[in-house]
Amino acid sequence: RADFLANASHELRTPLASLAGFIETLRGHAKDDPEARDRFLGIMVDQTERMQRLINDLLSLSRVEMDEHVPPGGRADLVAIVEDVAAFLRPQLEERTITLDLDMPEAAEATGDRDQLTEVVMNLVENAIKYSPEGADVAISLQTGLTRDAAERPGPVFCEGANRLTLAAPTTEPGERYALLRVRDTGQGIERGNLSRLSERFYRVDGQKSGPKEGTGLGLAIVKHIVNRHRGGFAVESAPGAGSIFSVFLPLAA
Ligand code: ADP
Repeated sequence: RADFLANASHELRTPLASLAGFIETLRGHAKDDPEARDRFLGIMVDQTERMQRLINDLLSLSRVEMDEHVPPGGRADLVAIVEDVAAFLRPQLEERTITLDLDMPEAAEATGDRDQLTEVVMNLVENAIKYSPEGADVAISLQTGLTRDAAERPGPVFCEGANRLTLAAPTTEPGERYALLRVRDTGQGIERGNLSRLSERFYRVDGQKSGPKEGTGLGLAIVKHIVNRHRGGFAVESAPGAGSIFSVFLPLAA
């Protein structure tokens, strides 16, 4: 907890210090230089957006942590969730000329909280976009009716040299069937040694390039909490230079 507060404060202090610095500059020697003023205002907008992203993710993390031990009650239509996320992210996909392939069944309904599961899909797909080069492909597949074994081991790793690591695993109820969501990118991939730390709060892989928006390091921690609450599983496969697949499996609604 103490670490968390120190990290959160540090993350917020950096953009805040930058804003304070630019305000001083704008009041001082950049006052009569319209070109410099425009450039500095652009940077200030970026820093403000970064603080907004951090605060939104911190609030979201605190909400999901609070109800992690309360089982979700509702039903969530996973096909509709993936379609909504794809539609919402259309502008980001277009901005980076990334193609999204969807491979989905007619229907897949999980026991769960629709908003939280939307957040899971959103975070994974946003990462796939963020950590892909321009012009790349991102693929989302959804399978349904799987046994625990099939959901946990969906075939061989996706390419030679890829490593697989489980980030969250539920206790199994006999006879339970699962839906499996996989989000694949062909980005830079992640070295084996970093995989186990991905869902730690504020952890970012050193030197990982991320499109225009720098990440907060909270997205996968949020995903892990939500998946745990839903008694689901969460895993990553990745090969440096070839890409990554993040997969989540969730118990189907009865
Ligand atoms: P962030 O907001 O930084 O993306 P996340 O918790 O979502 O935070 O991810 C943690 C770190 O894991 C990222 O900073 C990045 O280094 C790495 N990562 C996440 N998804 C991918 C991906 N699809 N490809 C490569 N690296 C990834």
